[in-house]
Amino acid sequence: MTVLGNVLGRATIILDEGGVDLEKASDNLFAADPQALYERWDEFRNWLSGWQPDFDRVAAVPLIEAELLSPAPFPSQVFGIGLNYRDHAAETGAEMPGRLAVFTKYPTCITGGFEEIVLPDGGTVDHEVELVVVMGRRAHHIADWEAWEHVAGVCVGNDVSERTLQRAAGNQFSLGKSFPGFGPMGPWLVTPDELTQPDDLALSCVVNGEVRQSSRTSEMVYPVSRIIEEISAVVPLLPGDVIFTGTPAGVGWVHGRFLEPGDVVECTIESIGTIRNTAGHA
Ligand code: ZN
Repeated sequence: MTVLGNVLGRATIILDEGGVDLEKASDNLFAADPQALYERWDEFRNWLSGWQPDFDRVAAVPLIEAELLSPAPFPSQVFGIGLNYRDHAAETGAEMPGRLAVFTKYPTCITGGFEEIVLPDGGTVDHEVELVVVMGRRAHHIADWEAWEHVAGVCVGNDVSERTLQRAAGNQFSLGKSFPGFGPMGPWLVTPDELTQPDDLALSCVVNGEVRQSSRTSEMVYPVSRIIEEISAVVPLLPGDVIFTGTPAGVGWVHGRFLEPGDVVECTIESIGTIRNTAGHA
């Protein structure tokens, strides 16, 4: 079971028994910094495959949601994919683009799966449940058939979006998707080999108990492997980089509904987990 968490800034192996601190478990072979671990991802995976937990030496600590931060807290690059589910494109009235639509979320927007979504004043803030990919190897000019080998793992994300700002500047989405707290991701990183069907996972977004989005990642126009091929044809993807892979139908703005203080947004992906972020004012 290879699941890696970030507990209060420390890389943590997630087991059924609880979280085991990686730096301690590895006798300082690996440092605590979760982001730095992606630079040594292959080495980490090799070490982990031979590791046996010894709870007398390093205890498994109960996991507390509020302590689970982003598994990739400081990525060099964060990519978002627009209109990657046909039903979402249809609900917005947008025409399908002729090729992959890539934008950026500036990395300072990244937060954990249980942190607050801080609403800007007068904001028209919306939710987008998405499968999030974290890279485990540098990827430049990578073909689709070898793309998954460059992925460290996947987690659940919410591509939080300020719609007025997003749409005010033509197709330049990035500022509208990059307020602090607009990139929740978690609850932890699951390696692709844990997933029997990494390209076919149920995903949903529930706001205050009401299902708003529900689909499967197999509905993506460009699956993960094609996204990596297309981006890496231009930009080298670096270990620890993050890709938000697009959202299905059911976002709020097409129904005139935006997040309000106190709203609880739960995003879930099958075989990975659930993140839960409450909206609030700064
Ligand atoms: Zn999105």
